[in-house]
Amino acid sequence: MRSGTQKNKNKKPIGIRWKLFVYMALLVLLMLTLLWVLQSLFLEPLYKQTRKREIETMAETLIALPVGETLADKAETLALKNGICVILLDGRGKTLLSVSGINNCAIHNINRSGLSTLSFLAEQNGGELMQSFRKDDYRDMYYVVDESRDESSLSGTESVIYTRVFSDSEANRYTLYLNTIITPVSSTVSTLNRMLLAVSGVTLIVSLLFAYTVSKSLSRPLVEMSEKAKKLAAGDYDIDFVSGGDKEIRQLGQTLNAAEADLKKAETFRRELIANVSHDLRTPLTMISGYAEVMRDIPGENTPENVQIIIDETERLTSLVNDVLDLSKLQSGTQKPELCLFNFTETVKTAMERYRRLTEQRGYDIRFEADSDLIVLADRTRILQVIYNLVNNALTYTGEDKKVLLRQLVRDGRLRFEVTDSGEGIEQDKLIHIWDRYYKVDSVHKRSAVGTGLGLSIVKTIVEMHGGSYGVISEMGKGSTFWFELPREALSDAPTAG
Ligand code: ADP
Repeated sequence: MRSGTQKNKNKKPIGIRWKLFVYMALLVLLMLTLLWVLQSLFLEPLYKQTRKREIETMAETLIALPVGETLADKAETLALKNGICVILLDGRGKTLLSVSGINNCAIHNINRSGLSTLSFLAEQNGGELMQSFRKDDYRDMYYVVDESRDESSLSGTESVIYTRVFSDSEANRYTLYLNTIITPVSSTVSTLNRMLLAVSGVTLIVSLLFAYTVSKSLSRPLVEMSEKAKKLAAGDYDIDFVSGGDKEIRQLGQTLNAAEADLKKAETFRRELIANVSHDLRTPLTMISGYAEVMRDIPGENTPENVQIIIDETERLTSLVNDVLDLSKLQSGTQKPELCLFNFTETVKTAMERYRRLTEQRGYDIRFEADSDLIVLADRTRILQVIYNLVNNALTYTGEDKKVLLRQLVRDGRLRFEVTDSGEGIEQDKLIHIWDRYYKVDSVHKRSAVGTGLGLSIVKTIVEMHGGSYGVISEMGKGSTFWFELPREALSDAPTAG
């Protein structure tokens, strides 16, 4: 099917389907071989062993009975049931019992002297003798089978004769002969082997088919998933990776779906960032070059107001670039807060100085409420950044009355800082997103007025860096209150430093 190209790509890893298929096929082969070996090597010796043990047990049963009718009855029952022949001779060689459970048995075919020899040999051997004989059909005689040689392939029936010499309570001596034919096991084994061959063939084909089907059905979802992953890599973010399959495959699908969602989000962010940053960069740049050109070409336009516009726009540019750099520095995790003790209340007041021009010229009403001066252990520069970001947002989004309220309080032993505006508020479903990077509630209308969507993300990162918490309470039409709290340890009991 694929052999032509397969050779050239020798180093290509084997597919899971083929691996599974080969392993299952090997397992089946191993089991069949084991069965085969066990049958060929151990069936015959096991059978002979069992037969011999049976004869010994029967002999024990018969010896235990008194010589007489009971013994004769028992011997007959056993002989017919188990396919054996029994002969019992007394000390003088007189036949006391002779039962035939099989045709043409050895003990009924050998002559008296043969029986005497067996009796003699048994006596020599401690009273019992187990010997195997094979019948030579040509000469119609029996010869002893050499147990040490494997003669199973020879023709002729094999007989086992068990001879036992014993005495009764009155010291009368008897010889008991038990004879059974060990049905030629070799022929049975070869019949079984032929059957096993057929069964092996069928089993092999069925199991290979089964292995192929199972391995195919197991690997199919993986193959499908890999196809989908290729599409994902090509930029298609609307693929559903969970489509049936087993538990693990489903889990993999769910993981891939989650990864896909993250990729999609990252891609959207990237696009938005490029759109936002390029827009936000273009506006001040256009203003700067426009004003600069006017000032160059029209002598009267070289006014301090126009220069101020250029300076303001440059500052806007700088702050945008700073925001992007800040956030990436903060989020890279390399920055640790540089903790120092400082007067938080005083710091807020200093920060408000920056807004004085705004309040005076544009009519903003920024107030700060604080009961007492609080000293905190934190990174002053970073905390200032948080305050500026929150106040800037409040100023941008506050309502007609242009009111912004800053509050500093202690709650549960923690410093809490709140910035409340009287703006439109934020819709409930948007609240969790505003802390994300580059997120803007209304990215179309107020874009030129607002920043890059990085402000709150910076706030979040800095507060988290200090081990604090943050949040927003917003009511549509009434305004929003953004707050953050520093952990208890940050609030120092040290006396205020003015
Ligand atoms: P931006 O630089 O765009 O203000 P932020 O991360 O500071 O970015 O804020 C994210 C979004 O949250 C803003 O685009 C705005 O829609 C919303 N937002 C932030 N502060 C306020 C506020 N005080 N009132 C209403 N919406 C706000």
